[in-house]
Amino acid sequence: MEFTVGNTHSQLGGVFVLRRHISLSILSLLFLSGVLNCNLNAQVAQRSPALGIPQSPPLVGDTVALALEAQNWLVELIKINTTNPPGNEQAAAKYIAGVLAKEGIPADILDLAPGRSAVVARLRSSAIADPSRALLLVAHMDVVGVDRTKWSVDPFGGVIKDGYIWGRGSLDDKSMLAANLAAFIALKRGNVHLNRDVIFLGTADEEQFGDASMKMIIAKYWDKIASGFAINEGGKVVLGKDGKVQYVALQAAEKVSINVTLSVTGKGGHASTPTKDNPVVHLAAAVEKIGNYNTPVHLTSIVHRYFEALAPLEDEETSKWMKVIDTPDRGEHAIRYLSEANPMWNSMMRDTIAPTILQAGFRGNVIPSEARAVINIRLVPGDTIDVLVNDLKKLVNDPQVKFEIAPEGGLAAPNSSLVSDFFSLITKACAQEFGGVPVIPFMSTGATDSAQLRLHSVQAYGLRPFPVNEADDARVHGDEERLPLSSFPKGVDLMVHIVAEFSVTR
Ligand SMILES: [Zn+2]
Repeated sequence: MEFTVGNTHSQLGGVFVLRRHISLSILSLLFLSGVLNCNLNAQVAQRSPALGIPQSPPLVGDTVALALEAQNWLVELIKINTTNPPGNEQAAAKYIAGVLAKEGIPADILDLAPGRSAVVARLRSSAIADPSRALLLVAHMDVVGVDRTKWSVDPFGGVIKDGYIWGRGSLDDKSMLAANLAAFIALKRGNVHLNRDVIFLGTADEEQFGDASMKMIIAKYWDKIASGFAINEGGKVVLGKDGKVQYVALQAAEKVSINVTLSVTGKGGHASTPTKDNPVVHLAAAVEKIGNYNTPVHLTSIVHRYFEALAPLEDEETSKWMKVIDTPDRGEHAIRYLSEANPMWNSMMRDTIAPTILQAGFRGNVIPSEARAVINIRLVPGDTIDVLVNDLKKLVNDPQVKFEIAPEGGLAAPNSSLVSDFFSLITKACAQEFGGVPVIPFMSTGATDSAQLRLHSVQAYGLRPFPVNEADDARVHGDEERLPLSSFPKGVDLMVHIVAEFSVTR
């Protein structure tokens, strides 16, 4: 399943799909120069071996003009303030439905809560849908809040300045929303013959996973989005300091977020006559033990593949340890080294526990009768919360400390397959788009809508198709979020070709 730049074709679901590369071929330039609604049949047999990189013509024409249109959709979407809470995603859903209506594509606004809706639209491959083949394009419409005092531009102004599109959602996740919309519309405009249904979905409440989230969409409207494959946020195209794409992390799994509440009750009373019973003391001791607990290492197949593929791109020392992570003699040291080198790597190798809330007391001279703490647990998929909580109970070893697992906690979703046709197609398309860079399977430590889809047997993959460097990536959920203007058309081009090559019959 490793990517191969030299491949000329692949056998995908019985359909012989020719590959493409946009930048190097005279043929591609010819098509770029004017074929928008191309006659596919005439193009099937054409390819060029220029520079040894196999070529095939684009399935749905030029993406340059389309990306400019999509940039405008992105700007308009940023201007619609969908800060969650309260979300107000209905306004964005209506805007998207309007864009689709202009293309002659009917869209459904799916109501989830007052002012909160998802939007869905479908391009049909045949009169009778086969959900197991359908491809779902997912992006969320809500964004996290902003601290306006820390922004130099209006975060909801859709400002384009200094080579960037600025604004909340420019990276997470309205750029993907606009790119998905572009890929979807390209199919319609191309008047192509689809070999599977393609479904566009804008979700709500992704940032809070509350009552208007993907969970609710699946519960209420599954028939509208039932699909075998999905592409969503969750991965990244990593831009190096030299301004070149280093690698693509393609998300096939994610950790599971679960809150656990610790509570201690005891005899409250006058602080002048304390007893051993003080809930504050019991709780503090429990939190201290849990906060410093190193959970057992659990390396999943995806994490193995991740380190294996990342090793050649890292410095000599890091690379050395990544390569021996499996070995019985040096594995333990490797895990320690990598855990200390990068908190994300640590979190990819084990369940993590972060105490996040402490609550006790109301007056300086009164011992409270109750103390509570919340710990946020991120499980490696496959691990179970009951087992971990049992370990924690033993560790704390204090019958006064009660553990309660939050009922709305995430469910451990299975990994998406690393050997599906769609996974190999995305891998190859990314490598081609970015000059043969490695495409690395990735488990994100954060959560996305994909977990819910994976629980419904959807092979969901996470990508953010726009090249972004580490410094800009760190602005996600932070201040001055921005997307490089030059990255946006590349992401649109990539999404168009992933979607077209998976769903169009040549
Ligand atoms: Zn997001």
